[in-house]
Amino acid sequence: MTESTLTLPTGDWPEILPGWVWLCGAGPGDPGLLTLHAINALRQADVIVYDALVSEHILSWAGEGAELIYAGKRGGKPSAKQADISLQLVDLSKEGKRVLRLKGGDPFVFGRGGEEAQTLVQHGVPVRIVPGISAGIGGLAYAGIPVTHRDVNQAVTFVTGHDQTGAPTKSLDWDALSRASGVLVIYMGMKHAPHIQKGLLDAGRPLDEPVAVVSQATTPDQKVLETTLGDMVEDIAEAAMEPPAIICIGRSVLMRQVLDWQAMLRGEEPRNLDPLGRGKPAEER
Ligand code: SAH
Repeated sequence: MTESTLTLPTGDWPEILPGWVWLCGAGPGDPGLLTLHAINALRQADVIVYDALVSEHILSWAGEGAELIYAGKRGGKPSAKQADISLQLVDLSKEGKRVLRLKGGDPFVFGRGGEEAQTLVQHGVPVRIVPGISAGIGGLAYAGIPVTHRDVNQAVTFVTGHDQTGAPTKSLDWDALSRASGVLVIYMGMKHAPHIQKGLLDAGRPLDEPVAVVSQATTPDQKVLETTLGDMVEDIAEAAMEPPAIICIGRSVLMRQVLDWQAMLRGEEPRNLDPLGRGKPAEER
């Protein structure tokens, strides 16, 4: 590991005490989306236990001599069992190490961070939680999609596409979700996209409802597919979209036509200044 040359802004940054585990979000990918608390932790930790979705770039900011332990699925390596990871964290802390558990996005959003933290506390290990930017919010923002917009939705629902067994989530009441939420943001939905599509169409959502699929959001490999509820399954296959990806269903997807700021960086003009057909935004009406 190279010695970290990052300096934090002056301030009273907390110390990781020996035997403590800090459970930190690393954000969706772009290292610039890391929090200052996460950087502070990276520089101090003796051991960093990280997930598949944490980038090499972020890990390169670890302090000199920090031990890096991989705890996720990547490149065909078998995935560590959740209980094993939690118990490994307990052991490391009992050795008096200063432990950083680094997880993609936000540790408490579909990341089992709540379970890990509970196991730690049940074993008498003190924890600190550092939130991160979740892919379902920050990843969509990188695609120019605001998860709420006054002309679209007053609620947004975060949904997981599969349950603990990997099967499509059975407990989901698609009728209720569909009625309650103009915008649905689906994590881990790629494998069960046909199930999600059918659930929402059966619940009465229209075939032409806008859908965006954003893979590898906020990384240099970010890909965005704009499609509709009716065509999403075919289009995902045709565009060869791969996980990790967020599926956003709802009219806020249309806002990408005016807010695709990555296209602006490439010097492109907005495709449509008024994609919702409301003239001026609500604040100017
Ligand atoms: N705790 C994470 C989510 C973990 S679940 C968070 O808050 O973001 C893993 C799922 O998150 C993936 O299947 C995918 O749906 C989503 N995800 C995580 N990082 C992503 C990224 N960079 N781009 C798109 N989706 C991502």
